[in-house]
Amino acid sequence: MSDHGTIADLAARIRTRETTAVAALEACLDSIDRHDGAIASFQCTSADVARARAEAIDRRIDSGEDVGPLAGVPIAIKDNIVTRGEPTTCGSRILEHFQSPYDATVIQRLNDAGAVPFGKTRCDEFAMGSGTEYCAFGPVHNPWDTSRVPGGSSGGSAAAVAAGFCPAALGSDTGGSIRQPASLCGVVGIKPTYGRVSRYGLVSFGPSLDQIGPFARTVEDATLVLQAIAGEDVHDSTTIDTPAEDYLKDLHVPIEGLRIGLPREYIDTGNDDAVNDMVNAAVETYRGLGAEIVDVQLPLTDVGIATYYVIGPAEASSNLARFDGIRYGRRVPPGPGEELFDLYAKSRGEGFGPEVRRRIMLGTYVLSAGYYDAYYKRALQVRRLIRQEFENVFQQCDVLLGPTTPAPAFPIGSISDPLTMYLCDRYTVNANIAGICGISLPAGFADANGCTLPLGLQLQAPALGEGTLLRAARMFEAATNHHARTPELDPAATGS
Ligand code: GLN
Repeated sequence: MSDHGTIADLAARIRTRETTAVAALEACLDSIDRHDGAIASFQCTSADVARARAEAIDRRIDSGEDVGPLAGVPIAIKDNIVTRGEPTTCGSRILEHFQSPYDATVIQRLNDAGAVPFGKTRCDEFAMGSGTEYCAFGPVHNPWDTSRVPGGSSGGSAAAVAAGFCPAALGSDTGGSIRQPASLCGVVGIKPTYGRVSRYGLVSFGPSLDQIGPFARTVEDATLVLQAIAGEDVHDSTTIDTPAEDYLKDLHVPIEGLRIGLPREYIDTGNDDAVNDMVNAAVETYRGLGAEIVDVQLPLTDVGIATYYVIGPAEASSNLARFDGIRYGRRVPPGPGEELFDLYAKSRGEGFGPEVRRRIMLGTYVLSAGYYDAYYKRALQVRRLIRQEFENVFQQCDVLLGPTTPAPAFPIGSISDPLTMYLCDRYTVNANIAGICGISLPAGFADANGCTLPLGLQLQAPALGEGTLLRAARMFEAATNHHARTPELDPAATGS
């Protein structure tokens, strides 16, 4: 793997011309060439466009211009965020040949900060899944053990950062799709407060739940990327109009006296022992840092999955109606004697994979007359209760601590039952339901059949509590150093 150093270092070296944006990009492309055959984290790279962008940055630096805090830093983009001039497939056959005519706001902001977005990472189809096994173009493999999943749905982004292909990547999180793969791949992943980052150009899954956020190797690196993309956007009316605070300013301020809530529901008998041990060790680390550990209760943790799997599919079923074979993507023309309806049915039937079809059916069902009140309306009522429960708990503590996932990465193909897959997100969905922010960071390892697999610690903070959240994460990282361990890529198993 290539060692880019931290983002701040890399950008500083590019700015002072110790190295160049072009060299940083070539190092990424080269390591992808050598090692991504075994991992399959990228759907495509746009080498030519990215080279031109990197050259332009180098020229601007040569002429004395300040190109921004992410000067020349190559960043990978989840394939459900639109980028002009290259495909955006959402991991779906229905969008296999789709190219967006515009860049998402986050892409523009990365460009404005001097970064070099350079390729699209694989994800579960329309971001629905927890293992990146539901990508229509093939699964992504976990760099720690290529027989296992990287988590999902942003598995390609998490795996790419874990494998050292690039210093950072963007993902999207509707119910855990940044935090869960970050946890399973041993990297940092941030789900910002709902509305903190523009969703303009993110292909919608559940628009009341979706947020874009960064993956990186360290908290500071992820923070630098978040800082670049956060803020109000005229193209997304759900963005928050207060400017993003300076997250870096207090990142290194000690957390003595910070109240860290430990919900008793998060240390569960259903968790792997290694996961519970990791949480207990994290509690001790925080005690050592002078934090106050507060016992709290979040009984609605248990109803999160049921609530999420009504609201998410309801929103998805209505959003995905636009993929009709006429306006976007794949079209299967009607046969002789067939009509327009057949075109819709065939295009959608062939274009969408089984999990997406399942969500569309679930969502259509819970929104249909007769079931709307019993399911959708009820789920919205529970959503309000979950929000309220977090608000109450954040009176007692500043940050919540727990596992990101109940278990480390599972073998590819080992979960065939959808409900078991849904339960991977037990600890992550409620943050989306409530709109609060969360982070997963490397916090230990489990041994599974002779393999070392990373475990992630999840911290959550109230809406717009990113400053405190990131500081608490950064202090843990400084005290433990789990992030410094990286997977060894097997040279024998590489693609070239
Ligand atoms: N795994 C969850 C799902 O399948 C979450 C996905 C996400 O956050 N995009 O819906």
